[in-house]
Amino acid sequence: MKQYQVLLYYNYVKMTDPEAYAKEHKAFCEELGLKGRILIAEEGINGTVSGTIEATQSYMDAMHADPRFSNMPFKIDQAEQHAFKKLKVKPRKELVTLRLGEEDINPLEITGNYLEPDEFYQAMQEENTVVIDARNDYEYDLGHFRGAIRPDIKTFRELPDWVEENKEQFSNKRILTYCTGGIRCEKFSGWLLEKGFEDVHQLHGGIATYAKDPKVRGQLWDGKMYVFDERISVPINQVEHVVVGRDYFDGKPCERYINCANPFCNKQIICSEENEAKYLGGCTDECRTHPNNRYIEEHQLTPEEVENRLKAIAAEEEKETI
Ligand SMILES: [Zn+2]
Repeated sequence: MKQYQVLLYYNYVKMTDPEAYAKEHKAFCEELGLKGRILIAEEGINGTVSGTIEATQSYMDAMHADPRFSNMPFKIDQAEQHAFKKLKVKPRKELVTLRLGEEDINPLEITGNYLEPDEFYQAMQEENTVVIDARNDYEYDLGHFRGAIRPDIKTFRELPDWVEENKEQFSNKRILTYCTGGIRCEKFSGWLLEKGFEDVHQLHGGIATYAKDPKVRGQLWDGKMYVFDERISVPINQVEHVVVGRDYFDGKPCERYINCANPFCNKQIICSEENEAKYLGGCTDECRTHPNNRYIEEHQLTPEEVENRLKAIAAEEEKETI
């Protein structure tokens, strides 16, 4: 039996003094031995933490005893160990970065219709329906709902502009949105309504809740779900596993994520162990030869070895152009 748990949770609720609460909350989490990342804003809380079963249970009990969080749902994953190295509890301006400024959405006032996992599963398969993935592109690339639209954006905050530019695609259609735990959709779906789209629905509790629903068992999800902790990804579909991830270098099916070995780039790429070695963990020539390349350092490669691998890459590229 696994001895640890990873919790994922959020709640939109008015917080009067985020700074003071963050300080006090950090001390409380430290006492329990929790690790993870918690954001506190005037609009609420958004967190993911790991700890022993006992510690995470005490945490959930304590949060539920606070009237501000008494109905806050927790998504719980079993784990072998901590999923984070450190504990960070930070006050923030917003819980999710949409940067809507004056147009900011309060999900307590306006948000899309909530669909439970089985309702979402049915709705996805209906005619005249579009499913929009409300996450970042690298999250989509590792796994997503079958047929979902991948907005052509790098990060979530570019989503509103992208929708404005691609409006025709969605007019007179039922729109379904989903994200990891549901927090991004609370605002995004509210923003869609604000912009005049009428038939807007969101997956309640996100993919994390969908995965655990005994009725749908993660069906119609392809690939894995990207998570923001050391596990990097978790399985969702319990019925079938379709690999959708593709190796950054050779395009072969792959589900292994690495950060580019250039610490100033850190780009997340899907890449096999073999190709990581071959390309020195670097996403470009510049990253491969960067003086701070982590891969070279960690594997204690000699200058000759590095030179040989760079030559091999160059030879292959030349072959391809001929
Ligand atoms: Zn790079």
